[in-house]
Amino acid sequence: MKLAIVGATGLVGREMIDVLSEKDLGETDFFPVASKSSTDTQIFYKNKQYSVITIEELINKKPDLALFSAGSEVSKKWAPKLASIGCTVIDNSSFWRMSPDHKLIIPEINGRLLKKTDKIIANPNCSTIQLLMVLFPLHKKYHIDRVIVSTYQAVSGTGKKAVEQLKNEEVGVLKEMAYEHQIFRNVIPKCDSFLENGYTKEEMKITNETKKILDKNINISSTAVRVPVLRGHSESVNITLKREFELEDIYSLLDEVSGVTVYDSPANNKYPMPILARKKNDVFVGRIRKDFSLKNSLNLWIVSDNLRKGAATNTIQIAEFIIKNKLI
Ligand code: NAP
Repeated sequence: MKLAIVGATGLVGREMIDVLSEKDLGETDFFPVASKSSTDTQIFYKNKQYSVITIEELINKKPDLALFSAGSEVSKKWAPKLASIGCTVIDNSSFWRMSPDHKLIIPEINGRLLKKTDKIIANPNCSTIQLLMVLFPLHKKYHIDRVIVSTYQAVSGTGKKAVEQLKNEEVGVLKEMAYEHQIFRNVIPKCDSFLENGYTKEEMKITNETKKILDKNINISSTAVRVPVLRGHSESVNITLKREFELEDIYSLLDEVSGVTVYDSPANNKYPMPILARKKNDVFVGRIRKDFSLKNSLNLWIVSDNLRKGAATNTIQIAEFIIKNKLI
């Protein structure tokens, strides 16, 4: 199998290379792809060195599987071209996510929807993935009525320019900015651009993707906030269920979910934090407690590495799923 990573020099692309290094997808050829300005870059993968190629060159290589993380414009233009020559594309950008003709996949939740005819498969937004890994088992057993989520998102969620901005500001250097404001020692209540309805694109991605993957009838409202953390998104989540629950049941239910780690021992100061989740594939949940202000309601705190389960890990799990189920 010929495997390509489009956006191999970016944060998600490099993370995919890290995650793939520990796996065997049965690839016989590997093509790292980036923009023209990176063609002198060398990429190390499984003890071999590869030169970066452009996407135009990739088409001639006829890859079987291409993992995309190069932004919406690249996905819009090139994913259909690759699909038309028989390549399966798994895309990290937001471009195909809400298309009715394309599936938005978290393998643990809806991998079973995938078919051989799905040539462009969308990977959800990083904040959505970690949220739904926890909401899915709760919804299955208790039916969720309403969710209010506030995110605390790391700068790596914006890409390498934003990481550079934070690192520069930490040492007092003023260079190109990824945000309109300083992020060091600051909190910015804006992730992605504003829409006419007063929400940001990121907030609407969380809302719309949750409805598409889990249930269109879930009432969900979100506030997305950028914080000066390098990697690892955190979320404060308030959930109202349609059925009564015991807190012990919530613990044991979440404890059984593959890919979710319950990390919750207030007496021992154990609660999820970005530094705990760093480079881990799991989603961490803690601070699980009843909301005494409203019937059938609870609060919890979710943390996950946005570059791992929020992007690279989920993409590679989709790849493993389609390979294992002979959908490619
Ligand atoms: P990034 O660090 O800015 O990297 C962007 C990558 O795209 C680089 O490898 C860049 O190559 C490449 N690229 C740009 N133009 C290209 C072109 N014309 N042809 C081929 N490659 C091109 O961004 P990122 O954080 O990795 O994010 C990449 C995508 O994943 C975005 O769509 C983002 O929304 C999505 N995503 C990101 C996260 C996250 O946590 N960061 C999570 C989920 C999804 P050069 O180095 O040559 O410029």
